[in-house]
Amino acid sequence: MEPTVNRVWPRVFQRLYRTSALPRRTHSGCAERADVPASAKPALLVSRLYQPSNLRDAGPDSRLQGELTCKSQRLMQQAGLIHPSNPGCYYYLPTIVRSMEKLVRVIDQEMQGIGGQKLDMPSLCSAHLWKTSERWDLMGKELFRLKDRHGAEYCLGPTHEEAVTTLVAHQATLSYRQLPLLLYQITRKFRDEQKPRFGLLRGREFYMKDMYSFDADEEAARRTYASVCRAYAALFARLGLRCVQVQADTGNIGGKLSHEFQLPADVGEDRLLVCGRCSFAANVETVSSGGTDCPRCGAAALAESKGIEVGHTFFLGEKYSRVFGAAFSNAQNKPAVAQMGCYGLGVTRILAAAVEVLSTEDGIRWPGLLAPYQVCVLPPKKGSKADDAAASAEELVRALGEAGPNLRGEVVLDDRTHLTIGKRLKDAGSLGYPYVVVVGRAALEDTPRFEVICQGTSETMFLSKDALLDLLGRVETV
Ligand code: ATP
Ligand code: MG
Repeated sequence: MEPTVNRVWPRVFQRLYRTSALPRRTHSGCAERADVPASAKPALLVSRLYQPSNLRDAGPDSRLQGELTCKSQRLMQQAGLIHPSNPGCYYYLPTIVRSMEKLVRVIDQEMQGIGGQKLDMPSLCSAHLWKTSERWDLMGKELFRLKDRHGAEYCLGPTHEEAVTTLVAHQATLSYRQLPLLLYQITRKFRDEQKPRFGLLRGREFYMKDMYSFDADEEAARRTYASVCRAYAALFARLGLRCVQVQADTGNIGGKLSHEFQLPADVGEDRLLVCGRCSFAANVETVSSGGTDCPRCGAAALAESKGIEVGHTFFLGEKYSRVFGAAFSNAQNKPAVAQMGCYGLGVTRILAAAVEVLSTEDGIRWPGLLAPYQVCVLPPKKGSKADDAAASAEELVRALGEAGPNLRGEVVLDDRTHLTIGKRLKDAGSLGYPYVVVVGRAALEDTPRFEVICQGTSETMFLSKDALLDLLGRVETV
């Protein structure tokens, strides 16, 4: 996939550096970096990044300040990545938007890898559809309901089975040759959660990837179901997150078969039973026996742990397709009802869950692919003995930008040279750049060397410029 965010040249730098080669505006109002020669591109400067970490106290309205209920929320708020607005709703600030866009690209790759096609459905959902599926009443207080000026009722979409099945039902000519059909979107979802908490882990307005599959028969639908589960496992493996796939309840969504993808973590709100002997794992809600014997292998090896539900898959059968009339013409040219599945991934929840399980108490650690920026370069403090190395820091940033396409837009320069290296290192540690490069006195030696701190492994190395370019040129980005 062509990265989109990396092609955007922040407007602030256009104002700061008026070069003769100002980028052309695209129809979306963004400027295209491609028009600017790499060498003319200014560095991303930490002093200019909008990461407001010391936002003014919201005063007596403590709701606005948001109770800091878990590590990921605290770290994200302190680092200026998110800011609370009203309960369960957050401003996603520019730095975390970069991570989210990266996660979206990884999800797109995995979903399109199994034939998913991306669409975007309205968030305003007609009550009529929800009454047809009988979920208008079933959803109770969790639905955000509203009326338009004509008195017509709507809800803000918490999920889109009704909408997508109606869409597919509208196509009179769907043929079995076009199946399986996999449609997905990555959009905001709205749920009036009873207890919004834990920052992005349980919001009332959050991003979800929801995919819906349509198949010709049950066997094909089960194959599709299995391929989505494999894609989910591959996605979490790419992110370096150890997820378990557990049997789950079908709840309000309904259907015949369901699995949750759970990330074991103490802050998790789900209770899991995992067998230490075989691969059995289940949500406690679905296991009836109160004992510790595994229902699959019989070993007395079931252990309980807490988990964060990051994904959920459902085999729906004809539950929605029959009600809404989602049919296709089969090989005999006769109409037949499609077999469906639906598959959710909590996009904002995955970001928070990853931060929750990977971070230390005072520093964010990202899955490498999702770090907002890969490299932070620290030039020496102004007036210090190493001050002469300032120029080589800027030169290094330029060279990194040209080292390979993987680092384009991924390198920031911490230009706050009135601060000590120590203070800036601490900030870099709390933001979690995977690589921090300190340009100090060693950069002034005959063979200049740079200090590299790899946050993931806590390793520190002194490398020549070439070795550094070689190391960082191989960092995987998306
Ligand atoms: P939970 O049991 O945690 O309330 P759910 O089972 O109601 O979640 P699904 O309907 O299966 O959620 O939604 C698909 C995915 O969307 C979930 O697996 C989860 O990752 C994410 N998700 C659900 N509710 C929220 C929320 N309030 N905030 C953030 N992400 C959520
Ligand atoms: Mg669920």
